[in-house]
Amino acid sequence: MFESLQDRLGSILNGLTGRGALSEKDVSAALREVRRALLEADVALEVVRSFTDKVREKAVGADVLKSIKPGQMVVKIVHDELVAMLGEEGVAIDLNAPAPLVVMMVGLQGSGKTTTTGKIAARLASRDKKKALMASLDTRRPAAQEQLRQLGEQTGVDTLPIVAGQSPTQIAERAVQAARLGGHDIVILDTAGRTHIDEPLMVEMADIKAKSSPHEILLVADALTGQDAVNLARNFDERVGITGLVLTRMDGDGRGGAALSMRAVTGKPIKLIGTGEKMDALEEFHPRRIADRILG
Ligand code: GDP
Repeated sequence: MFESLQDRLGSILNGLTGRGALSEKDVSAALREVRRALLEADVALEVVRSFTDKVREKAVGADVLKSIKPGQMVVKIVHDELVAMLGEEGVAIDLNAPAPLVVMMVGLQGSGKTTTTGKIAARLASRDKKKALMASLDTRRPAAQEQLRQLGEQTGVDTLPIVAGQSPTQIAERAVQAARLGGHDIVILDTAGRTHIDEPLMVEMADIKAKSSPHEILLVADALTGQDAVNLARNFDERVGITGLVLTRMDGDGRGGAALSMRAVTGKPIKLIGTGEKMDALEEFHPRRIADRILG
């Protein structure tokens, strides 16, 4: 579907074999292709810019290894830099806190927050032998509350019974209390989303955070998010303060550039990726795999 970066750079840089170091001009020509590849992969423009600046710094004057072609050399520099920028591998949810440890899930409506809440709770139960309690804080959408209840039933994870008329912060407080009484290790708060970021949403998230002192705040985002990824990640991080990212729909056709955009603007680790609708479709993040995918 996409032309790989290696192929694109091959035709530009093949004439350089044997010339030794990469010149400013060669690198600039190569970076035009790198830029195009990253934009096609949905990496946000400002992140593409800072990324290509870094690659330029590393590539200009770099000696081309005898064993590879200049095009391959640039691809290697780009790939290494992508992996470095995507960040560390296998950063798990931090379970190092007294019970009940609160995990707050935030993100836009439709990003996969409720599904991911169910997946994480199921994984904590089966792999880590932790007793989890899930609570839906979406008071505006009864369907969302019902969806979480059904996921709990399906996975055997407890959900907080719904009490009509409570505010999201009241539900959060009740969830923590219920976990204490019920001997739960972890409370996962599935907060309400909106179709876009707005002030009431950010105020609501900050209130819930203040009332429930979460140990982890995970921003759930669709891997297909394009230029909006920067705004989304920056807003949630600045206003609420996230501790990690979860990218959903990595099973789709997209190349996952949002991973780079969101990681670059927040500096927060990508902790997990969603790869399907089923409850076991949750995987660790591997920066090399995403880098390969972004480069095509
Ligand atoms: P929420 O509004 O953020 O709570 O989003 P939901 O959890 O309800 O998810 C919205 C839709 O996306 C549902 O149909 C989910 O089954 C689907 N979904 C969630 N995560 C993934 C994923 O990783 N891959 C795929 N293919 N679908 C997903």
